[in-house]
Amino acid sequence: MNPVDFENIPDELKERRQWLLWRWEVKPEGGMTKVPYRADGRRASSTNPETWTGFEDALQSHETGRFSGVGFAVTKDDPFTGIDLDDCVCPDTGEMSPNSVELVRRFASYTEITPSGAGLRIWIRARKPAGRCSKPGLEIYDTGRYFTATGRHFAGTPETVEPRQKELEALIAEEFPKPEEPRRGERHPYAGTSGDRLDLEEFLSASGVMVLGEIPDGTAERVFRVVCPWAHEHTGGDRSGTRCGQYADGATWFHCEHAHCSGRGWAEFRNEVDPRIPATAKRCKARRVWRRSA
Ligand SMILES: [Zn+2]
Repeated sequence: MNPVDFENIPDELKERRQWLLWRWEVKPEGGMTKVPYRADGRRASSTNPETWTGFEDALQSHETGRFSGVGFAVTKDDPFTGIDLDDCVCPDTGEMSPNSVELVRRFASYTEITPSGAGLRIWIRARKPAGRCSKPGLEIYDTGRYFTATGRHFAGTPETVEPRQKELEALIAEEFPKPEEPRRGERHPYAGTSGDRLDLEEFLSASGVMVLGEIPDGTAERVFRVVCPWAHEHTGGDRSGTRCGQYADGATWFHCEHAHCSGRGWAEFRNEVDPRIPATAKRCKARRVWRRSA
């Protein structure tokens, strides 16, 4: 295992006045945490540049023995992003998880072993796309955070911080996929109205239910002829005979006159057309109902 050697830290990081000190401390709730400090022993902040210093000054303070290590605070004003891979190295044998081997190869930029000896940090030049990019074992930051710096260079990686914007974006797309944006003509979740009352017309539109027309009705406030979401179960795929409506008090109902749909009410209809419910869950439910009424 490579020893701590601050010489290895790339000059491009050392040049910046973004250094602080840190110390292992026990958290009140148990476990250890790395608390950031200024050279004079006061607390530092990963978001307050006034609490940072130059590398040489941080190193001098570190040599007093009062701190566990030095760290670098990343900001929007520098070109750096840090990628933390936790618990991916066995501190005793140096054996690495296959995933971390692949990532270190893929990024091919200055990489060091973290203070625990069990993690790796890959330094790259890139802007992290907006959004949270942290989960157990993988954390990516380019601002609002400080990273420890050990100089325990991970052998085989470059000694410099390399530009890896495309690689970062690809990794984030794989590891932190965004929920799919609704496209025109596709279903998207009903956003709801400001009050408790459901806006039936809006709900039908948002849920992708095909409305065939509106029926004037004496008892209900609004009645729509719709295509039944289970129309494929109707004899001959018949699309007629299905209605849903809303009473003046806001209560909603669903009725389909086809045999397979007998007993299906609003709750089941809403559950079926709501795109937030996974298709697999819907299928199971539909099968259960079909068997019961068959
Ligand atoms: Zn039906």
